[in-house]
Amino acid sequence: NDDFSESRVILDIDLAKIRANYEAIRETVEPLTTMAVLKADGYGLGAQRIAECLKDAGVTWFGVAEMHEAMSIRHLNLPIQILGGVIAEEIPDGVRNDIILPITDMKTAEEISTESIRQGKVTQCHFLIDSGMGRLGIRISEAEELIMEIMKLPNIECNGIYSHFPYAYGDYDFSTNQVRSMIQLIQDLERKGISFKYKHIANSDGIHNVPSAIQAPFNMVRTGINLYGCFDLEGRKTISLDEVITLRSRLVGIRDMPWGASIGYGRTYKLDEATRVGTVAIGYADGLPIGLSNNGYVIIHGKRCPIIGRVSMDYITVSLDEVPEAQVGDEVVCLGDGISVADWAEAKRTITYEIICSFGNRVERNYI
Ligand code: PLP
Repeated sequence: NDDFSESRVILDIDLAKIRANYEAIRETVEPLTTMAVLKADGYGLGAQRIAECLKDAGVTWFGVAEMHEAMSIRHLNLPIQILGGVIAEEIPDGVRNDIILPITDMKTAEEISTESIRQGKVTQCHFLIDSGMGRLGIRISEAEELIMEIMKLPNIECNGIYSHFPYAYGDYDFSTNQVRSMIQLIQDLERKGISFKYKHIANSDGIHNVPSAIQAPFNMVRTGINLYGCFDLEGRKTISLDEVITLRSRLVGIRDMPWGASIGYGRTYKLDEATRVGTVAIGYADGLPIGLSNNGYVIIHGKRCPIIGRVSMDYITVSLDEVPEAQVGDEVVCLGDGISVADWAEAKRTITYEIICSFGNRVERNYI
């Protein structure tokens, strides 16, 4: 297995599939612009490589959570927008590097304005409106008045307005009401002579579940998780997308263990018959959930091998009864090949986002 080099665990990231997923989303939402959200280092899969691939595929706009992430893809010379909130310390670099900044309150707006004057620049900003997320942003009930005030500040060009869904994958009425109240706000402001070039509310779930979020007056969507072919576990899925990752390790030990032997920490598994037990060089430090202990399987020689015993930091143990031909050094597919990110999310009682963000540092990212 030459392609393992010295890494025990390899995460293959299929850029062609990411590109195809982006294209499928873009076709669905056109004429709206599809912003690629690459926060948290592209959901842990590598923002730079993914951004380069997506730029080739025609992406024209990136979203991130913070300044370091913005700087990692700045060289691609496309608009980059910080989505959640900006902290005071990030503003000077944001202004200097023409990052589109979120306005979440008067204080932030004043700080961006002052820093822009100091640097002799005009900074593009989008108003983040809290229409129901309850996290950050201008509360929608106060938005009209505050926006009118903020628009008077010098050296900021507030040409966008956006909001975010907390529950587009489940509460369709709530989400539709958010859309309605955003449209109302946009219209009220237009009547007062304030209009925005960019208007957006839909994340991936919004695209699938809230039709009014992908229509005028909105002209942009922000997608992150869908680029990787993943979805929330609940909610409708109106576009078919492909998962893009395969996680591979290898067998590092094979032993014939007798009836009655216990396997791993906590002695959670006791053999009820003599079993060939394989040890695979992957553990929870690599992102394999401890929830798969006695509860998941891996693929060896195309066959499912159950994980037996508790997942440890660096190793898992599996039954090789179905693959007598297995040998030390053989490849083990832990994710992919019929085992989905959603399967892991269910086993870990979490969401697909956490699974793909949680591969460890020592996992080699291999772009194919
Ligand atoms: N927009 C905002 C403001 C976000 O915080 C996120 C990510 O959580 C996204 C869009 C992308 O969301 P998703 O990955 O569900 O498409």
